[in-house]
Amino acid sequence: MKKGWNNMILERFFPDIYVKSVYELPLEELKARGIKGLVFDIDNTVAPFDIAEPENDLIELFLFLKKQGFRLCILSNNNQERVKLFNKNLKTLAVHKAGKPGVRKLRLALEKLELSAKNTAMIGDQIFTDMWCGHRAGLTCILTAPICNRDQLVTKVKRGLEKQVLKVYFKRNRK
Ligand SMILES: [Mg+2]
Repeated sequence: MKKGWNNMILERFFPDIYVKSVYELPLEELKARGIKGLVFDIDNTVAPFDIAEPENDLIELFLFLKKQGFRLCILSNNNQERVKLFNKNLKTLAVHKAGKPGVRKLRLALEKLELSAKNTAMIGDQIFTDMWCGHRAGLTCILTAPICNRDQLVTKVKRGLEKQVLKVYFKRNRK
């Protein structure tokens, strides 16, 4: 069946996988899909946007994922200061001022990971930045529910539209 244009527009924002949080990543499924690298958004994906440093659980999660054989990178639209401080204890690959949904810095992250797009997953809380960016570059896209309800103003504005798109996604993926 031929897809309508509105479907094609919506699908670039839909995730391949949805999880409630980064602690619920389906690791076996990801391995089965050939995923070897994980690119994480920071703000409201792995930490509230206004919390400067990662909690211990997250540091442990990253250690666990590395032990599981995944290569990790954080990729944030936020500035160098934010990303550097956040990464102080995570000690992973990091890219700041990512300009998502632009793909230039995501490709830089793939270079740092030494992985191709098809072996890497993008994990984020926003469909118009993280999911769109990931799809454009050919990654598997994993959407998380935002970690807290506080948002920067610019994000707050996008959330309304995001809700409309996700309503369609969840309706289609209802089991
Ligand atoms: Mg975010």
